[in-house]
Amino acid sequence: MEWVLATQNQNKVKEIKAALPPDWTVRTAVEAGILEELPETGATLEENAIQKATYLQTCVGGMALSDDSGLEILALNGAPGVYSARYAGPQKDDHDNRLKVLEELAEVQDRRARFKTVLAWATPDGVRTFEGEVWGQILHEERGQGGFGYDALFVPDEGDGRTFAEMSLDEKKALSHRSRALAKWRLALGI
Ligand code: IMP
Repeated sequence: MEWVLATQNQNKVKEIKAALPPDWTVRTAVEAGILEELPETGATLEENAIQKATYLQTCVGGMALSDDSGLEILALNGAPGVYSARYAGPQKDDHDNRLKVLEELAEVQDRRARFKTVLAWATPDGVRTFEGEVWGQILHEERGQGGFGYDALFVPDEGDGRTFAEMSLDEKKALSHRSRALAKWRLALGI
């Protein structure tokens, strides 16, 4: 299958490739010659996912898959949500973003949160979306060196008490929002 991945985030690329059959080849936007940042001006994860996938599909042709994800914290009314990447500012720094979450939750008891992924699959026939989520708790401090983004703060409810950043790629894959959305996408495509 000839298709392109609408993301420049190498961590997402690694996780998405890990969820695909080993004989599949996929090019990223940059590998397909699209060097500019993909448009991401929507008000929701779904709008952003659709925007990125359709933009790339129009530029390159064939089929394009995008991933827009975010962390939604109940006590913060769903923030950072669609603003997860730039929560602490336009520099989009993962460490600054984690510090801001810890500051915002300093006095908060209810630390429930979910990660959510929306995938958009754009083809010449149109675009479809697939969602995945995982619920968990936000810690009071960072734990673990792996993963990316908010992984070092997030302990999934279905796990063994470790954060996503303390898990191997395969262990995170077994529980993650991204894997769940990818599983729905594969099911819909019959692959
Ligand atoms: P976007 O989907 O590129 O807009 O990025 C959303 C932001 O959410 C990223 O910059 C990360 O900080 C965060 N994020 C997305 N997926 C994950 C994940 O699987 N673990 C931890 N943080 C994530």
